[in-house]
Amino acid sequence: MPNAYEPVIGLEIHIRLDTTSKMFCGSRNAESEEPNVFTCPICMGHPGTLPVLNQEAVRLGTMIALSLNCDIPLLTKFDRKNYFYPDLPKGYQISQYDQPLAINGWLEIYPDEINPKKIHIERLHLEEDAAKLKHDEAGNSLVDFNRAGTPLAELVTKPDVRSAAEAKLFMQEFQQIVRYLGASHADMEKGHMRCDANISLRPVGDDALYPKTEVKNMNSFRSVERAIEYEINRQSQLWQSGSAPEITATRGWDDQKGITIEQRSKEDAADYRYFPEPDIPPLTRTAEEIELLRRRLPELPMVRRLRFMAEYELSYSDAKTLTTDPVVSTFFEETISELRSWLNSLEDTEGSDEERWKSYRKKMGRLTAGWITSEIFKLCNAEKIEFSAVKITPENMAELLTMIYEKRVNSSAAQKILHIMFQTGGDPSIILREHDLTQVSDHGAIDEIVHAVISANASVVADYRSGKEKALMYLVGQVMKASKGKVNPEIATDLLKQKLGS
Ligand SMILES: [Zn+2]
Repeated sequence: MPNAYEPVIGLEIHIRLDTTSKMFCGSRNAESEEPNVFTCPICMGHPGTLPVLNQEAVRLGTMIALSLNCDIPLLTKFDRKNYFYPDLPKGYQISQYDQPLAINGWLEIYPDEINPKKIHIERLHLEEDAAKLKHDEAGNSLVDFNRAGTPLAELVTKPDVRSAAEAKLFMQEFQQIVRYLGASHADMEKGHMRCDANISLRPVGDDALYPKTEVKNMNSFRSVERAIEYEINRQSQLWQSGSAPEITATRGWDDQKGITIEQRSKEDAADYRYFPEPDIPPLTRTAEEIELLRRRLPELPMVRRLRFMAEYELSYSDAKTLTTDPVVSTFFEETISELRSWLNSLEDTEGSDEERWKSYRKKMGRLTAGWITSEIFKLCNAEKIEFSAVKITPENMAELLTMIYEKRVNSSAAQKILHIMFQTGGDPSIILREHDLTQVSDHGAIDEIVHAVISANASVVADYRSGKEKALMYLVGQVMKASKGKVNPEIATDLLKQKLGS
């Protein structure tokens, strides 16, 4: 009965906010190999110190909430969540309980790339992070307080997610949003973005919610997907054997073993004895202040993706790849804008700029998207550098693309030029000249090479003549090799066919 049960999944995502200082003190909000360098009496929990709310964290949290279509109450307050653990010097964490920063939002994901699915958001609140525990070889536990008191935003979704794939899509979408806002690097591997998933099953057609299992400790998109899949399987077996979970539980994901492990039964909110934080006055804001922040929101990734599809006739997957990182999408648009001015400068075209662009935009969009997402990404991966560190300027990229478009270089020469541009940030026409990569279009010269290849490969020529189409590919390759990649392969193919009488 593979489809007899439906997964019901809610996500709790913590994002580390990229503020200059910590949530309630002036200590730097940064990471260091050296422990306990960004600390002060407040984040060390010394008696008699007073927390002061970081307004930048409030602003970033509100921008995130507005991007997620949340309602922003004009009054919000902070509470103490009491529990004892060595990573929590005060014995409580300052968080938000019953009056969070934002409530009732939604975010759309595109599971089938065409139809949006709304994932509703229950709340978003601000809180401080705990310190980090380290266990050394001698068996000592050490505490590094650099992270203690750093600002977090916690997002809680409604249980609208129905599969591991949807959970991953939601997280990717959310990660892009906070990156577009400059609110967080949201790097899962570095712990800037952490996810817990509440998972339960129910018989298909049943609307009830059954006791859920909270899965923790997933620190990559891949582990979120694997852990949720594992948990769905584990729970369906329990349901099938008539022993569905009867109490809520917490399980930790073991990435090495690929399994979840029972940790403890979950505390209720009552166990934390939440009460209002007496040292931080409730925060009140006006509708105008919120509206001002809303107007300052940048174009968000989903909107930009749909615009790219409409404006450049890109496929969903190309548009998605280009808009994952705002730096990439800006580079794409600046390159396109350079190509547009180049098209306008051509003399043999007619009509208004707008009309001309309409007839070229699909070709130009595809060409540019293709060279960025395959070639530049490949170079970034090989050299292990971020796209933001790429030295190629949009002007130079556009120039290379016009050279490709006008067939002044063939694709292999263009790749070589791009590689040099990638290393030096140089100008493609200068590289073209210096490295003698101009496409040979002189038919006399190509003729000679083709002739030599045919006489040197009599048996392959015979194969081709006896009907082996693939033999032609080999001959084209030989022409390319002999010309050091400077011959246009289309011309070589045509000439070979012509000479071999087909
Ligand atoms: Zn501090």
